[in-house]
Amino acid sequence: MKAGIVGLPNVGKSTLFNCLSNAKAQSANFPFCTIEPNIGVVNVPDPRLEKLEELVSPERVIPATVEIVDIAGLVKGASKGEGLGNQFLANIRETDAILHVLRCFDNENIVHVDGSVDPIRDKETIDMELQLKDLETVEKKLDKVKRAAKTGNKEAQKEEAILLKIKENIEAGISVRAIEFSEEDYQDYVKPSQFITDKPVLYVCNVDEGAATTGNAYVDKVRDAVKNENAEVLVLAVGTEADINELDDYEERQMFLADIGLEEPGSAKLIRSAYKLLNQQTYFTAGVKEVRAWTVNVGATGPQAAGVIHTDFEKGFIRAEVISYNDYVEYGSEAKVKEAGKMRVEGKNYIVKDGDVMHFLFNV
Ligand code: GDP
Repeated sequence: MKAGIVGLPNVGKSTLFNCLSNAKAQSANFPFCTIEPNIGVVNVPDPRLEKLEELVSPERVIPATVEIVDIAGLVKGASKGEGLGNQFLANIRETDAILHVLRCFDNENIVHVDGSVDPIRDKETIDMELQLKDLETVEKKLDKVKRAAKTGNKEAQKEEAILLKIKENIEAGISVRAIEFSEEDYQDYVKPSQFITDKPVLYVCNVDEGAATTGNAYVDKVRDAVKNENAEVLVLAVGTEADINELDDYEERQMFLADIGLEEPGSAKLIRSAYKLLNQQTYFTAGVKEVRAWTVNVGATGPQAAGVIHTDFEKGFIRAEVISYNDYVEYGSEAKVKEAGKMRVEGKNYIVKDGDVMHFLFNV
């Protein structure tokens, strides 16, 4: 699962990517690693992990991670192959969620590709390129289904009707994620098509340092423009955070963050939001050798959670011993939780909850 950073040139995408990639900002234990120049695996900052570390004193601590891709090169006309257009769109298709960076700061020295600062226009430019690509997909699908629909095939007629609805909406500038479908139609016909504009999105308003906690007039406009999209809007002073990250000393970094009104880097919040956007959650394993955060999809079962550690754990799953994070912290150790009768034994149908501390029993 990965999230892609998109936005027009010069809005702060690479600065944000570098900011996320700066290990100092997240965790001293596990440095960021770059798979390719534009792909990074970023630790998910999680205070619960620090708490468990404190209680268990393990040899090592391993955080959950999320993969972030910097997708450069989207310009007006990308869907027609302008710039790195097609490459860009191929990259974005492979992501599972979109972090859309919008320039919400004034600075005469930083040229805007369209000559002025206007995040709403920028958003529409990007949306349109993505929508045009989806329109191509819809038209291809319509071509395929048309003949079968004509011969009276009910299934094909249903699909055709849904595709036509999508086509009309896109032509009116509406992204697939904002179109209403019945749950069944969505699952059967829309979701499998993997439209680019159906991917969940989070808007990152890149502001100057004075607006890091308050936002500004540009941010207000963005909030207003996306209010029907069911999308989170994050305010981030990307340039300032990048500067703060340059400092080696932790205390000093915290001081500068406090100066702009923050307790932790906005990028930490962004990483957690991206993780959520990808529909992911964390369970923990806590032993003296290792305390570790593992990632599962929301809704995963006990065996699926075990499978994240090893496929054999999933195949041979017998049961899981589960302690909720809050109980773990309240009683202070596994033994004390057991004593208090707060450890649960769960079977194959158990739906994992965020923060569960788990131990699996399995056949080999
Ligand atoms: P990209 O093309 O979207 O990847 O944009 P960059 O990250 O390369 O940023 C373009 C320019 O804007 C660089 O000179 C950055 O230093 C600058 N920049 C990025 N974020 C901010 C910000 O929040 N405020 C200001 N004033 N400048 C920024």
